[in-house]
Amino acid sequence: MGRNQARRQHRAALAPGQGRQYGNSRHVAAGQCHHRQSCRRRRDAARCASGLEGRVENQRGQIEPEISVMEREMPMPQTNLPTNLPIGSGPSVRRLSRGATISYGERKIMVGGGAPVVVQSMTNTDTADAIGTAIQIKDLARAGSELVRITVNNPEAAAAVPAIREQLDKMGIDVPLVGDFHYNGHTLLNDFPECAQALSKYRINPGNVGKGAKRDTQYAQMIEAACRYDKPVRIGVNWGSLDQALLARIMDENALRSQPWLAQAVMYEALVTSAIENAQRAEELGLAADRIILSCKVSGVQDLIAVYRELARRCDYPLHLGLTEAGMGSKGIVASTAALSVLLQEGIGDTIRISLTPEPGGDRTREVIVGQEILQTMGLRKFAPMVIACPGCGRTTSTVFQDLADKIQTYLRDQMPVWKKAYPGVEGMNVAVMGCIVNGPGESKHANIGISLPGTGESPAAPVFIDGEKKLTLRGERIAEEFQAVVLDYVKSHYGQAAA
Ligand code: SF4
Repeated sequence: MGRNQARRQHRAALAPGQGRQYGNSRHVAAGQCHHRQSCRRRRDAARCASGLEGRVENQRGQIEPEISVMEREMPMPQTNLPTNLPIGSGPSVRRLSRGATISYGERKIMVGGGAPVVVQSMTNTDTADAIGTAIQIKDLARAGSELVRITVNNPEAAAAVPAIREQLDKMGIDVPLVGDFHYNGHTLLNDFPECAQALSKYRINPGNVGKGAKRDTQYAQMIEAACRYDKPVRIGVNWGSLDQALLARIMDENALRSQPWLAQAVMYEALVTSAIENAQRAEELGLAADRIILSCKVSGVQDLIAVYRELARRCDYPLHLGLTEAGMGSKGIVASTAALSVLLQEGIGDTIRISLTPEPGGDRTREVIVGQEILQTMGLRKFAPMVIACPGCGRTTSTVFQDLADKIQTYLRDQMPVWKKAYPGVEGMNVAVMGCIVNGPGESKHANIGISLPGTGESPAAPVFIDGEKKLTLRGERIAEEFQAVVLDYVKSHYGQAAA
């Protein structure tokens, strides 16, 4: 284990809000630290060993490198909870934030202020291609993206934005559009008023609005455009494009410390400071506080968690959460899920975007589905019926149950655009598809509808359970079609208007 990794683990063991964060270190009062055996230095001015360089005293009073103590002793976090309470579950209380409304026509999306966590996405088409971009936005919106961001990177793209909006209106897609600006946003918003009007929100990267004396002027021009057109903004800091002047200032301040922070802590501080100072500047320029959303994106899981915990602690603006450059395939999904789950569980995050790199020819809507699945599996929102399926093992050597699980999952998601309106509440339904008798009947009984397929050597029959009771048995070649019909009947009878 590396030294930094040990420190991060150590910090993570502290209860949220416990102790005081100093960049990369959390200093705690003696007795507060869960790693009390490891933190020999807490006796020294109540400072936690996790934030210090050098050597420490071990439990036998010997001096040894700090890392060896951390490696040897990683006790489980302790809690002071009474032991006679029932085991609880669910996420922590949501962080209180102001609500910012993003609207287009009658469609209003509240971010923060206690509203459900919003799923958003971003196109990867050339925005100047109005038709191609409108089609991808339609696909993202139909998949469930509640906001869609498009890059507005040049005059051609800015000129296309009103046409994109028009195309979407013709297709009946009222999803609010967010314009992503870098370098020339102040010019584009000024030169293309119809673009400024057609967008429902502007994303401003304070590290990419200009340099030197121009920076403040150009940032102010963008905020003034937001005020003029009455649009909310996301002040989106990214560590790949951090405001270099601000970073230099924070580094200078760090150099004056008697014990300078590690470079990583300086970077965290610069990210958080950039977001908050630019939000304060926007308010000074006349933008209402409830028109501001913040983000501080980084590409490392532990970095993201550390930065957002601190950002959440220091302000009450709603927070846009996402791991930037998460990557491709399972790595991107796992990294995003790991980072966002920790923060969402702590009540941090008001809107999410999953920045997956699509495989060549891959479907852009995947990032929407992954975002929804993170929220739904955490119990924060419901978007579509969930399919519970066993992984399969040597007890089932055919692919019948895999095919059935895949078919039913695709069927359920495909029906949702219609079902959502016709069968309110259906998004909370659970369907179990199990491979054999070992866990099949038991798991199926916990679902609204469950089917236990025959494993190798079992009788070729598939009992179907509805609301915990075995209702029928399917046999033969058409099990998938017949099970689908059973599911549809259940949906109609339990979620249709007549059932209300
Ligand atoms: S339910 Fe049966 S087939 Fe599925 S994993 Fe368990 S034992 Fe294997």
